[in-house]
Amino acid sequence: MLQAVVNIGLLGHVDHGKTSLTKALTGKWTDTHSEEVKRGISIRLGYADTNIYSCPPCGLHTLNEKCPKCGGAAKLKRRVSFLDAPGHETLMTIVLSASSIMDGALLLIAANEPCPQPQTAEHLMILNIAGIKNVVVAQTKIDLVTKEQAKAHYDSIKKFLKGSVAENAPIIPVVSNYGINVDAVADAIESTIPTPARDPALPPIMLISRSFDVNKPGTPIPSLKGGVLGGSLVQGTLKRGEAALVRPGLETPKKGMKEMEVKVESLMCEGGPLESAAPGGLIAVGTSLDPNVSKADSLVGCLLGRPDSLPDSKSELSFDHHLIQREGFDNPPLKAGEPIVINVGTATGIGVVAAIKKGQVLAKLKKPVCVVKGSTVAISRRVGQRWRLAGWGRSL
Ligand code: ZN
Repeated sequence: MLQAVVNIGLLGHVDHGKTSLTKALTGKWTDTHSEEVKRGISIRLGYADTNIYSCPPCGLHTLNEKCPKCGGAAKLKRRVSFLDAPGHETLMTIVLSASSIMDGALLLIAANEPCPQPQTAEHLMILNIAGIKNVVVAQTKIDLVTKEQAKAHYDSIKKFLKGSVAENAPIIPVVSNYGINVDAVADAIESTIPTPARDPALPPIMLISRSFDVNKPGTPIPSLKGGVLGGSLVQGTLKRGEAALVRPGLETPKKGMKEMEVKVESLMCEGGPLESAAPGGLIAVGTSLDPNVSKADSLVGCLLGRPDSLPDSKSELSFDHHLIQREGFDNPPLKAGEPIVINVGTATGIGVVAAIKKGQVLAKLKKPVCVVKGSTVAISRRVGQRWRLAGWGRSL
């Protein structure tokens, strides 16, 4: 089992210990976003995978190959992938726009601050909107408070979750830096976030979240490797050797937007090479593309799939819309002519509201996007100098 089978979004207030818990769960830091933050409104997802093992005789799940209770060999249960995004605004936007690849969420709430903090409340709101019901809460930093304070804080979390999608979420007290109760988080993930039923016969659709040229400068032409595309499958099975299409593709000086036919030459996940890939975690697809075309994330936001089953690309996108209540800015109704940014899947569309009719927005975008019908659209509007998440809808 090389590939992760389930994607779990990481949410929580900025100082609530996401990086430490990710490190404790996966042995990796996801805090590698500084370069990505500078990219402004384009969004990148961070992935970190881990194996969860089970020891049937002891009835527990663990991150270790050896059962911590009986010392026996634990069996690999499944591989899970944690998804992270930099910054509060982009994280909320990602959870909405990439909800099609989020099977559950881990919500971190630090015990040394009153619950909820404003960002925590906004993250729960986003989980509600995205309909992500399979949630595990990690009550972090309990080493910084007394036992009584931790209990009172636990009660405040219970109260905060009441009436939300996470009302019955397990709440696991944890000290990430010392590895205390991290196995209990893994155990709660196993009982709360099941691997969704998938139909392997569906045509593959991948959201492209990265694209590269992997060749070192000066590589002789015969040794050049084709362009590599990174991302996650929303559905179906992608096989090595199959023909696929990248849509909408790249803007060309003469012919406008040009989609690209590619051959899937290799498939990789964090665990190693694959013959075929399914939804779950990050996959890298080696293709027949000219590496010059895929360099520097040029194809982020495109879809990869079979020519006959990908939706058409459009520069006019219609969606229903709902504005959200945010602290810190007014959010009046959208107006025709207003500039907006929409995020759907991994695509970012910059444009204007062309028309609003019966709650439906028609947005005219500067560049076309390729959107699966019914996808969640995150809508951002300019507030002062920044783009803020203002609402959401579904593509029509
Ligand atoms: Zn055991």
